[in-house]
Amino acid sequence: MGLYATVTAEVTCPRCGAASPGEWQFHFGGVGDLPIYRVGDLIRWDEIQRSNQCFGSPDMAAVVAIGYLADDMWCASCKHPHALVNVLIRAGRIEQVTFRSFEPWVPETLIVGPALS
Ligand SMILES: [Zn+2]
Repeated sequence: MGLYATVTAEVTCPRCGAASPGEWQFHFGGVGDLPIYRVGDLIRWDEIQRSNQCFGSPDMAAVVAIGYLADDMWCASCKHPHALVNVLIRAGRIEQVTFRSFEPWVPETLIVGPALS
């Protein structure tokens, strides 16, 4: 899937209720050096001057980035082959990571603004 950012976060499994850690790959901010974040980190835009090394814009006040599971299994008890999360980024900071669906893939990469409310 090309260049991406990664956030490591525990996400609650809706099927069994377990909080399972994961590495979630998403497309927002500078991605040229494959940054790795935790919840609470500020998105980096170091590469803003380089073409094709950024997704979105620092002007986006509130964004949900779709996060893809980096591993081939998620949830220690259910062992799903894939899962998607919502990476909520508000004012440039990763605010939370929540379960989205068990779909393998969705066409969207970012959901911006009014869709959040
Ligand atoms: Zn589970």
